[in-house]
Amino acid sequence: MEFISTRGNSPSVSASVAIRTGLAPDGGLYVPSKFPEIEVQGLNTDNYASFASEIIQPFFEGDPLFNDIPDICRDAFSFDVPLSWLNDRQAVLELFHGPTAAFKDFGARFLANVMERAQKGKDKKLTILVATSGDTGSAVASAFYGKEGIDVKVLYPEGRVSKRQEMQLTCWNDNISAYCVKGSFDDCQKMVKTAFQDRDLALEWELSSANSINLGRLLPQIVYFYYSSLIYLGKTGRKPVVIIPSGNVGNSVGAYWAAELGAPVGKIILAVNSNKTIPEFIGTGKYSPRPSVATIANAMDVGDPSNMERLRHLFPEHEQVRANMKAFSVSDDIIRETIRKTYIDFSYIECPHTAAGEWVRQNYYNDEFTMVVSTAHPAKFETVVEPEIGASVEIPESLKGMMEAGSEFHKIPPVMDELFSN
Ligand SMILES: *Cc1c(COP(=O)(O)O)cnc(C)c1O
Repeated sequence: MEFISTRGNSPSVSASVAIRTGLAPDGGLYVPSKFPEIEVQGLNTDNYASFASEIIQPFFEGDPLFNDIPDICRDAFSFDVPLSWLNDRQAVLELFHGPTAAFKDFGARFLANVMERAQKGKDKKLTILVATSGDTGSAVASAFYGKEGIDVKVLYPEGRVSKRQEMQLTCWNDNISAYCVKGSFDDCQKMVKTAFQDRDLALEWELSSANSINLGRLLPQIVYFYYSSLIYLGKTGRKPVVIIPSGNVGNSVGAYWAAELGAPVGKIILAVNSNKTIPEFIGTGKYSPRPSVATIANAMDVGDPSNMERLRHLFPEHEQVRANMKAFSVSDDIIRETIRKTYIDFSYIECPHTAAGEWVRQNYYNDEFTMVVSTAHPAKFETVVEPEIGASVEIPESLKGMMEAGSEFHKIPPVMDELFSN
């Protein structure tokens, strides 16, 4: 099974090469050259990890890691992936039962297990650089913690992440180092970019990234759409309209690729916050990235979604975009109101990102068979959620552990060299 670049000027590679490389040499993103055939009759939803292996392994056909995929999936996906039903038609797919309580755990844990096995027998340590404004950094840190032969450097902007988020970034040690950068998130990203372009550094360090364009984060995001839509179909006899809170659209690419594989998903709908690049693109056919706007659903504060290139590769004509994509923008006020209303109507507590999806459901698809994707546990965003519901949100055990552990980080100016001097 081969992966090609969206820009068409790089040699095709197998899955583990695409994962280790991150970006294709021509600057494009890796996509499957074609989608494998998966027999839906052979799929069994009793065990999530083995289901995941059934879906992912065909993508590793001919790859050295092919035989490792069942073990990798077992190690990576060791938590629940439940559907919560608000009524007999409206489900919430809860993707927040992993160690850091956001869907990023699926991609990060799969990536870490693949990289650890691909690293076996290599002399040189692999160093992963990751700039984060929130959920990605903690998922990557947690996933790579204790992995042989791999170090991780997590960069976050001073004063721009919440107290709870900072604790989840800085509670590690051993092979994980946290850098509190005196600058913005853009400064952090720039430092990572500079490091990747530095030739002297490349002689001494083997660097890799774990950001959301990495194929290793996308493949596992196909699985839960396939899995949950089969369960949904089994229960209701209908394919669900799937509503996805979106930022860099990595999660949405997972849904579209699941549909390509034959998963019984109905329409796929994106919910975004006040960052409107995607709805405007669908409306006009012109892609105009712009600086991001800060919102209370901050994991979706993206003005130039990095995975759009994959969706535009899948739907090269504007007609195809219009036929297959739909997106709605949701303001902070509406998100707040929806958190409150969903709590009152269903006694169900949602994070701000999920609430954006919930509003799209309640306003446009309320009479249809629907599944809203819940991307994070509400306890991660308690400062937004608790005032709306007038109650405190219980913290999942794994988060509690991270918040009780000590905190350790290097405080550095926004200069790339500082990352490699301590
Ligand atoms: C990352 C994230 C998103 C956005 O997902 P994309 O794949 O970037 O579209 C939404 N909600 C939460 C909680 C996230 O952490």
